[in-house]
Amino acid sequence: MSRTVYVNGAFIAEEDAQISVFDRGFLFADGVYEVCSVLKGKLLETEGHVARLHRSLNELDIPAPCSDEELLAAMEKLVADNDIDEGLVYLQVTRGAADRDFAYPKDPKPTLVMFTQAKKLLNDPVADKGITVITLPDLRWARRDIKTVGLLYPCMAKMEAKSKGAQDAWLLDDDGFVTEGTSNNAYIVTQDNKIVTRHLSNSILHGITRRSVLALAEEEGMVVEQRPFTPEEAYNAKEAFFTSASAFAMPVIKINDAVIGDGTPGEITQKLRAKYIELSLSI
Ligand code: PMP
Repeated sequence: MSRTVYVNGAFIAEEDAQISVFDRGFLFADGVYEVCSVLKGKLLETEGHVARLHRSLNELDIPAPCSDEELLAAMEKLVADNDIDEGLVYLQVTRGAADRDFAYPKDPKPTLVMFTQAKKLLNDPVADKGITVITLPDLRWARRDIKTVGLLYPCMAKMEAKSKGAQDAWLLDDDGFVTEGTSNNAYIVTQDNKIVTRHLSNSILHGITRRSVLALAEEEGMVVEQRPFTPEEAYNAKEAFFTSASAFAMPVIKINDAVIGDGTPGEITQKLRAKYIELSLSI
């Protein structure tokens, strides 16, 4: 069935949607994006996603394509028009179309594109089982705090993981510490129950789910340490997991050849996942 998508103010059938071949998002990956989950027809964490969108746009001097009110109203309309109960809204803002030139155009007219994807988020069998990851060098650019559409290396890393029979890759900086997953923030739980995840910097995306899950962990009286960790520390951890808007908190049960804990989703991970879902459904 054809979806209704959004392009620069218009709601149109996906097969009729068009973007210029001169769009800088297409030519230079000169654009940023956000992914907002939908549960029971309601968008989650919109405030955090809109704030991060502005941060990404500001870092790249791309003007906002519309007001926040217009953006949120359009997102809600897309969810309703496409009858999304569980899934996500993807939104992308580029610097727009201009003659190809590395220098930014003087008076950019940003492109805003949005679409929905239906996806089962609540009863995800993958979350019951946990996933396996491999580690790979982090060969992305150094401004991973900006959520750009330049995602080719994460795609390559994901394919490398798949070719090795794993589901995702955790990426390693030059000193051998985990930065994050291809599209998620990475965590371990130490044998003495401390939740460890890399501190915020330009090395990782400042995850919206990360912020909420860490707040929930602290509310639950769990100890959180924001610092880098190595794969070796992870091999000896009690639990491992990752967070992202569409995966919530997702157990990791194997890293390279090391089985984490007893090879099943950990207690703390499951608790955080349940709390995050409970909170999301209650708002
Ligand atoms: N890191 C990277 C590299 C990501 O692509 C994502 C998800 N887009 C995340 C972390 C998680 O961020 P969020 O919780 O806001 O989805």
